[in-house]
Formats: sequence, C-alpha cells, structure tokens
Amino acid sequence: MLPVEKPAHPPQKLTSPEVQHKCDEALKEKNKHHFSNHYYAAPEVTTQLKALYHSKCAFCETNTAAGAALQVDHYRPKKQLQDDPNHLGYYWLGYEWTNLILACQKCNRAKSNHFPIAGKRVWEPQANPKEWKLQSTSFLAEQPLLLNPEYDAVADYFEFNANGEIHPVQHDSGSATKSETTIALCNLNREDLVIARKTCLDNLLYRGILPILKLVQDYQQKFPDKFQSEEDNFWQEACQIIQDHLFQSQTPEAPYTLFMRYAVSQLEDFIPIDLSPDRRRLLQDLLEAREPDSSIE
Ligand SMILES: [Zn+2]
Repeated sequence: MLPVEKPAHPPQKLTSPEVQHKCDEALKEKNKHHFSNHYYAAPEVTTQLKALYHSKCAFCETNTAAGAALQVDHYRPKKQLQDDPNHLGYYWLGYEWTNLILACQKCNRAKSNHFPIAGKRVWEPQANPKEWKLQSTSFLAEQPLLLNPEYDAVADYFEFNANGEIHPVQHDSGSATKSETTIALCNLNREDLVIARKTCLDNLLYRGILPILKLVQDYQQKFPDKFQSEEDNFWQEACQIIQDHLFQSQTPEAPYTLFMRYAVSQLEDFIPIDLSPDRRRLLQDLLEAREPDSSIE
C-alpha cells in the first residue's frame, strides 16, 4: 500500500448524463441494479486510476508486469455486505469516483463484499450526494477497518520482515485493528505475494548491492595503494551505484514500494546475517557515502 492523492474532480465520464442516469437507476433499483463496468471502469477512469496507482494494486502493490490483471474495484462494496447481510450494499456509490480503487484479482476476490467497520454503519444514501464522498462526516463515522491509501497514512500501519511477510504495527490508539483487518481481508500474507516481495529484496541485495560490495573489497585488497588515492574515483562510483539501486527500489513505480522503503530504512536487519563483519562495515560506509573505515584490512 502506498499513499495516493486522488484529484477531487472525477474523470469526465463519471459526470456524464448517461452515468447520472445509471446513478438514478441504482437509487431506485438498489441491490437489484446491474452495475455496468462499461461506466465505472470506462477506459478514461481506468487510465486515471492506473496513473494514480502506478499500475499497481492499491492493496498489495502487485503490478501488471507481474501478470496481475488490475480491476476497478469498489472500496465500499456496491452489493449486499457479507459482514451484515441485511445491508444491501453501498449501491449509491457504484459510480462514485472516491469509492473507486484499483485492485488485483486476488485482493479483489479476497476482499469480496466485506466491509467491516468499528463505528456506525451508513444504511441508506445520504440525502445530499455531496455527502457520498470518501471523507464525508457520515462515512468517517463508520470507522472503516479496511485501510484506504487515499485517506489513511498507510505506512504507519505496517512493518515487514526479511522473508517478505507483512505485520501490523501496534499503536496505543488500537489502530492495529485496521492493519490486522486489512492484512486478513486482502490476504496480504498469501504465499505468492510474500515470495514476490522477498524476490524484490533479493534482487536489490544479491544483484544490486552485494556484488558491488565484493568488487569494492576485491579492488581495495588488490590495489591498496591506489584505493582512495587522488586519481582514483572507484569508491565514489561504487557509492553512486549503490545509492542509485536504493533509490530505484523505492520509487512509487517500483513493485512493493512500501515493503522496499521499510527494508531500506531497516537495511541493517535485512542484509544476510552471514555477511562478514568487515564487509558489513564496508557496506555501512558505502550506504552512508562516507570514506571507508581505515581499520578494515
Ligand atoms: Zn492486490
């Protein structure tokens, strides 16, 4: 999950008379309404959501390059709630821009028509359609337990381990319930996802950082007189390459950005435990782009 700033103004398609007509139909037909993805997932809407979400799932950050088909999903389900079968679903939000989110098939299927809350459920459309927005008072009072990257500071809710597993952060405020629910609801520790996150970290470490580290150490040992001399820029170049790898792995376009940002911020705990102490110290110097520790032999 990565924070997303969605423009307040919806794509033109969602404000067109034909979509307004579909909204009116939905208000009358409620859960019997046939929600057409021809409208809520029109190319214009999908394109804008893909740009906002960097072509990644809003929940698990799997991108299309990894073979996940992304779908326009409804944050609040448009159909009868599984948590509360007497609730007909948020049918009035079927074409509402702030309720549309991009999700992969696996998260979408796992999440299904669940929408657990801790507060007071909204049962009927608010009289004023301006109140249908994600951040309206009545919707905020529902206290949704499913995190929304367009509203919640999602980075504060999760931590990870070196195996690629995601865990809730325990807050005094009890907000771990939101992270726990989101992880469970979207199945964010499913095996293929954990492996995909771990693979990203392995690529950074074993293809990006550690080979450079080995080169630097070999160079240092072979050319101790030249290393760090005035005409030698090997060290600076190695620092730059490593910094580039770290930067690239954390861009919003990269897969699993939240995980990689966490891993890089805690890199000490994420590098292999069998890395020798002198190489570990050299890595610290490289990461901080400072002169190498002269005590290293
Ligand atoms: Zn997903």
